[in-house]
Amino acid sequence: MKAAGTEVERQVAQRTAELVAANEALRKEIVDLKHAEENRRITEEKYRLLVETACDAIVSIDDKGSIVFANPAIATVFGYDPIELTGKPLTLLMPEYLRELHQGGFKRYLATGQRHINWQGTELTALRKNGEEFPVEVSFGELTRGDHKIFTGFLRDISKRKQAETALRAAMDERARVSAFREEIGMALSHDEELKGALHNCARAVVRHLDAAFARIWTLSSDDRELELQASAGMYTHLDGPHSRILVGQHKIGLIAQERKPHLTSEAQNDPRVSDKDWARREKMIAFAGYPLVLEDRLVGVMGMFSQKPLTESTLEALSFAAGTIAQGIERRRAQEALRRSEAFLAEGQRLGQIGSYSWRVATDTIEWSNELYRIYEFEIGLPVTPELIRTRVHPQDLSLYEKMVEKARNGGSDFDWQFRLLMPDQSIKYLHSVAHATRDPDGQLEYIAVIQDVTERRQSEEALDKSRSELAQMSRLTTMGEMAASIAHEVNQPLTAVTNNGNACLRLLANHNLEPDVLRRALEEIVADGTRASTVLARVRAFIEKAPVERIALDINDVIQEVLVLASRELEDHQVSIDRQLAAGLPLVLADRVQMQQVLLNLIKNGIDAMIEVADRARLLCVQSRIDDSGDVLVAVSDSGTGFGQDIDRVFTPFFTTKASGMGMGLSISRSLVESHGGRLWATPNSPYGAVFSFTLPASGGSL
Ligand code: ADP
Repeated sequence: MKAAGTEVERQVAQRTAELVAANEALRKEIVDLKHAEENRRITEEKYRLLVETACDAIVSIDDKGSIVFANPAIATVFGYDPIELTGKPLTLLMPEYLRELHQGGFKRYLATGQRHINWQGTELTALRKNGEEFPVEVSFGELTRGDHKIFTGFLRDISKRKQAETALRAAMDERARVSAFREEIGMALSHDEELKGALHNCARAVVRHLDAAFARIWTLSSDDRELELQASAGMYTHLDGPHSRILVGQHKIGLIAQERKPHLTSEAQNDPRVSDKDWARREKMIAFAGYPLVLEDRLVGVMGMFSQKPLTESTLEALSFAAGTIAQGIERRRAQEALRRSEAFLAEGQRLGQIGSYSWRVATDTIEWSNELYRIYEFEIGLPVTPELIRTRVHPQDLSLYEKMVEKARNGGSDFDWQFRLLMPDQSIKYLHSVAHATRDPDGQLEYIAVIQDVTERRQSEEALDKSRSELAQMSRLTTMGEMAASIAHEVNQPLTAVTNNGNACLRLLANHNLEPDVLRRALEEIVADGTRASTVLARVRAFIEKAPVERIALDINDVIQEVLVLASRELEDHQVSIDRQLAAGLPLVLADRVQMQQVLLNLIKNGIDAMIEVADRARLLCVQSRIDDSGDVLVAVSDSGTGFGQDIDRVFTPFFTTKASGMGMGLSISRSLVESHGGRLWATPNSPYGAVFSFTLPASGGSL
């Protein structure tokens, strides 16, 4: 029994162990199950929470398209209670026009598995309970349960995002619009067009890009008192009428100018400065924007625009930019126009004065000519100018001078002033006077800026003047000689009488056979001497009245004075005039025509004698003085103790002024013109205590005795 008992025990023990193990396994299984259950619950809970708290609407439909589930967010997104939707078709959530499309696509998918839209992140239009359509982004998936399919979709309201996108796009459009506007304003002002045209294009840009109904631009008049309408674009394009001129300080435009402050309003119909409110209402004007056009504190104009839309931030920004740019444009254009005008004046001045100008950059031999210089040289305007080209026109006789000048200019770098001639293709000669100023170009290189004047006409008229002057002088000399005929005759007569006397004496002695050879020789010597004296006088007279061409040579003025005093000696003697010679020694030579200088001196001496004829109570004294004056010129003064000038001192040089019964009144005017043609001056001063002083100067020629 013991054995049987043990067996039972063993079996019991084994069974017990098995049960324990099974229990343990069961317990473990239960724990595992519990765990799984717990996990599932947690997962479910997580999903539930997710679904319930999601902001996006979540909708599940069955394969008939009926809603089987909707999360709470459906209320906020679509305006439906979730319960309300259960069993309803999904098409309820979409606008009418999409429903058929959806149903067709859904059926096709169920039948063929072919999707007609993208299932992830597709943008569609949805319909709220209140009938409002709105954009949604839809993503969905499917779940198969046995024979059934469940489709779950996430519908996200993206209307906010869309709005933001639209706003962003609008902002970008606005930016593009403003930048197009800026570009157009810049273009309008940079084109080389006259001011009015440029401003018109600016006004047009305001209308085109900134929603203006019309835009206008005025500029300030030169006296700063008025605004002058230059451009009008949009509804009104005329420039005449009441707005064409506005006084500064009057109306809204004039006030903007006066205050130099913009006037901006988006309530144009109620704005106190908008005078014609009826018009504003009729034309539905909402906004007005007016800006002063100011440059560095200087007002140059006013810009204004009316708009049927309110002013936006970016419009105002663009307008204020435009005001600055247009002000600059007006100023620049004005400066350009002033420059163009002064260039035109210069060209006209050059044409009238036959003055051309040029610049010459020595290092590169770059020469720029003004149009007038092309005309003077008779080259086609615009032909490239080279030293060789200029050379072809220089008169052959002046070529070496020209080359010397060019060489000197190249090396020297100092100003030069010279005259030369051109030989034109038709063999005519032109006289040119060139004055050049040496300067440095921006690179520091030597550059000459010069003017060249065609002085041909002046030269010709100077020559003609010289000719008529010398003819006049000749006539006057003849007159003087005529007046002096008596004294000249006397001068010649005296030696002739002596010759006759000597001849007669010789004849008498010869008749008496009493002629000693010694006596005869003496008599003959006297005859020869007297004959020579007479012919010298006649030679001087002839030289004086001869019509010889003007010839300037280096002269000692004292010689000329002496010669004239010889010519006048008889006249002086006849009128009991004593002579006082005060002639400085070592005077510089003067470059002058001898006969003309004699004539001047003779005129002055003769006038002195005439002025002393009536003087009875004092000595008749004529003083002739020569010396160097303060400026280094040679000065000659002829003074007398005559009657003086009285009131006439200012008139004595006037042609035909004379106080003498037989006077011509030309002597002094001819003398002055002769002295001046030598580069000197002739003037009169009263002598003290009586009489007159006539003085003249002549430039020293540079040589001396
Ligand atoms: P004319 O001798 O033929 O009158 P001039 O031109 O030489 O012509 O002189 C003009 C006038 O100037 C003279 O008539 C005279 O009135 C005045 N005049 C010239 N020289 C003198 C002088 N030395 N003293 C006073 N008056 C003079």
